[in-house]
Parts: sequence; structure tokens; C-alpha cells
Amino acid sequence: MNMAEIEKLTGLRGEIKRNEPMARHTSWRAGGCADRAYIPADLDDLRAIVASLPAGEPVYLVGLGSNLLVRDGGLRGTVIFTHGMLKQVRLEGKILHAEAGVPSPKVARFAARHKLAGAEFMAGVPGTVGGALAMNAGCYGGETWNIVESVTTLDRAGQLRQRTRANYYISYRTVILKAGNGGSEAGSEAAAAPSASRLPPHEEWFIAARFKLARGDEAKSRATIKQLLERRIETQPLDQPNAGSVFRNPPNDYAARLIEACGLKGFALGGAMISDKHANFIVNTGNARAADIEALIETAHTAVKQKFGIDLEREVRIIGEPA
Ligand SMILES: Cc1cc2nc3c(=O)[nH]c(=O)nc-3n(C[C@H](O)[C@H](O)[C@H](O)COP(=O)(O)OP(=O)(O)OC[C@H]3O[C@@H](n4cnc5c(N)ncnc54)[C@H](O)[C@@H]3O)c2cc1C
Repeated sequence: MNMAEIEKLTGLRGEIKRNEPMARHTSWRAGGCADRAYIPADLDDLRAIVASLPAGEPVYLVGLGSNLLVRDGGLRGTVIFTHGMLKQVRLEGKILHAEAGVPSPKVARFAARHKLAGAEFMAGVPGTVGGALAMNAGCYGGETWNIVESVTTLDRAGQLRQRTRANYYISYRTVILKAGNGGSEAGSEAAAAPSASRLPPHEEWFIAARFKLARGDEAKSRATIKQLLERRIETQPLDQPNAGSVFRNPPNDYAARLIEACGLKGFALGGAMISDKHANFIVNTGNARAADIEALIETAHTAVKQKFGIDLEREVRIIGEPA
């Protein structure tokens, strides 16, 4: 079934784009095109498109693309953007309800304004709530799933569900739906924390989250946010396109320290460079191809493995075909 047929069948109301350059939608500002990209008009429209896409069609929900590399050969299948829709954030009693397309920093500021504490760390994570839930994004001691009371999800059939933390295996930058809930992991605890690069494609996506926060103090939360953002400006290469930390930190160590100890700070391939400010960041120095970035990731991984015997696990997600 092609997209024109799908449109006729379902009366979709959103915007369809063909051969959409994903460099426009990823913070690395590099990479190939998506065969099709769709910006749903609203949640019902999102449900309709997901349900009407043929079973074999790959579907990718993408937020702000701040943890994503799309290979230069592009993506077969359909990308659905949540940013710009699913953008409601509101209080329900003491619970902060945020839809998946809301930028995480907005959640941090909204919570502070309403005298709720615990979401300050989200101010420095430049993605959406959906991306934060998928990645269990966190920093400076805060972690997304620590403040989640429940989530709303959407499956491939267009069905909505309410889920809680108990439905997932959750650990550092890892969120996996448990078997028996429609999840695809093997069911053993050992399978609970595979590397992000080995995760199966998601067939159930996050639509919204309810965050349970403590009563706080607006001025205190704002001061924490300010301090946290200042620390980032000092330590991260925010003036160049990047995707945050490339690798997860291994237990009791830092990926940046290990990469730096391999002498790789400032090492460049094509238009990509291991940041000379923070060695766990790879920056686009102007015209990086996704292949340059991926080759640098490999270089850092191999160097750390050879020097320290540590197998760094990737945090950034890589999808699509090589050129
Ligand atoms: C400068 C910088 C600093 C960063 N600092 C941090 C940090 O301190 N801590 C941290 O954890 N991360 C950090 N990141 C990485 C990134 O911002 C987070 O992982 C963020 O949560 C990703 O959100 P996103 O909307 O950009 O996701 P995307 O990059 O769009 O997607 C990431 C993954 O999540 C999936 N996804 C997106 N939306 C949904 C959804 N609704 N349902 C299911 N799956 C979905 C995508 O398919 C993809 O696999 C940083 C990135 C940058 C550029």
C-alpha cells in the first residue's frame, strides 16, 4: 500500500512529506532522508496513521532528534514527528501531565512555576517528553522515570493504554516493555538491560506522562535550573551541533575520561570531531556526514576497548541505511 492509498483509506488530516531530510530534524544536523515523514494533526490523526500503515512498514516516532543519527542512505518507512503536536502540559491536582511532544525544558520550567520540585534536571535535556521516556533521560542525579507516575502509550493498532513503571524494565538510559505486555524482550532479568544499539524497534510509543512531583519552592527550583544550565555551558560544546553524550558511562567511570585518555579529544574525521571540550560529545564542524560521525563512534569504541578492555555502550540511537 502506498501513501496515497493510505490517505484515501483513512482521511488523514496531518502533513505528509516525502524524502524529508532528517538533518533538519536531528540535533547533529546530519544524515539522510526519510522516505516519508508525517506530522499528525492531533492524537486521533496519529492513531489513524499508525493503525493504517501496513504491518511490515517501519515506523519511527521522533521528537527533537537530540539523541538520533540517521545514516546517509536514509530511512525506509515512515517517520512521525511528535514535536509541534502532542504539546499540552497542565496540572491535574498535584500531578503534572505532559504530552510526548512537549520539550523537556518546558516541563522543568512549568513545574518550577507551579512550585513543584524534582523536574529541574529536565531543563538541560534538549529533547521531548517522549524522547525522555524512551531514553530514561537524566542528569545531575535526576532521572525521568523516577518522577513518572504513569504513561499513556499507543500501539501499532492505534490502541491507547495506561502503563506504570511496573510494566517496564528501567535502568540507566534503558526502558524496555516487559514480556507479557506486548514487549519484545526475552523475559529474563539478564535481558533487561541490553545496549540501546541492540534494542528491537519500538511497536508501542509514548503519548503522554503524568509526573508526580514534590511540593517545592519556585525561587529554589529556578536557581537550581540556572546553576545546572550554567554548568552545561561551561562543560559542553553547545555552540556546535551534537547529540549529547554518545556513550553511556560505564559503572564507576566516565566515557569522556576514557576517550580523552586515548588521546582522542579533537580527533576529526571528515566533518565530525570528538569535541575538544567534552570527549563524550561528537560535534558537526560544518558538513559532517552521518558516516563521519559513525566512524568516529567506532574509533572511540575501539580505542577504549583496546586500551582499557571496556566495551562502551552507545547511548545515541542510530537508524537507517548506509549511503
Ligand atoms: C546538548 C545535549 C545535551 C544532552 N544532555 C542529556 C542529558 O543530560 N541527559 C540525557 O539523558 N540525555 C541528554 N541528551 C540526549 C537527548 O536530549 C535525550 O536523550 C532526549 O531525551 C531525547 O529526546 P528527543 O525528543 O530528542 O528524542 P529523539 O532523539 O527524537 O529520539 C530518541 C529515541 O527515542 C525514541 N522516541 C522519541 N519519541 C518517542 C515516543 N514518543 N515514544 C517512543 N519512543 C520515542 C526515538 O524513536 C529514538 O529511538 C542531550 C542531547 C544534547 C544535544
